[in-house]
Amino acid sequence: EGLRALLLGRIRDVADHPAPGVVFKDITPLLADPAAFSALTEALAELCRKHGATKVVGLEARGFILAAPAAERAGLGFIPVRKAGKLPGATLSQAYDLEYGSAEIEIHAEDLSADDRVLVIDDVLATGGTAEASLRLIRRAGAQVVGLAVLLEIGFLAGRDRVLTALEGAPFEALITV
Ligand code: 5GP
Repeated sequence: EGLRALLLGRIRDVADHPAPGVVFKDITPLLADPAAFSALTEALAELCRKHGATKVVGLEARGFILAAPAAERAGLGFIPVRKAGKLPGATLSQAYDLEYGSAEIEIHAEDLSADDRVLVIDDVLATGGTAEASLRLIRRAGAQVVGLAVLLEIGFLAGRDRVLTALEGAPFEALITV
């Protein structure tokens, strides 16, 4: 289908980044192409409308680049989930495991309320660890999760299984799966 081909054609494989043996999916050519970037923004805004979102959460850092214009286009507010130590106000934190070690993400919980319906957006779903932690964080902040949307799902890492559990029935939307 047209959208998928347009988007996939602008994502570049970079071998051995950030470590030997890893093939990194680089979305910067897509962002640099106004037609592809606009089509992506509209597709994500349409998912906001479809799922009745009232707020959009973007995950640091590339998730911000996708989520902020989609939120604005859908007429919704944008809330960042950041790596620990970056947000200045009162934060809620969620730790999660990485392949080696652990990480922590944070949100300004005061920006979410109990009647908010949140769509979470990120660029790439790999193991699903980051997205899973963000879903927990949003629920702990007291808001409802109406879905998780990513530009690209890397299928063989089985991130989908992990996030489907964390979504508790809310939909997972991948514009492209490879
Ligand atoms: P996960 O927690 O699902 O293993 O990793 C997802 C996070 O790492 C996302 O925030 C995503 O931005 C980043 N990430 C992991 N692999 C890739 C990749 O190949 N390309 C891009 N653009 N981001 C990746």
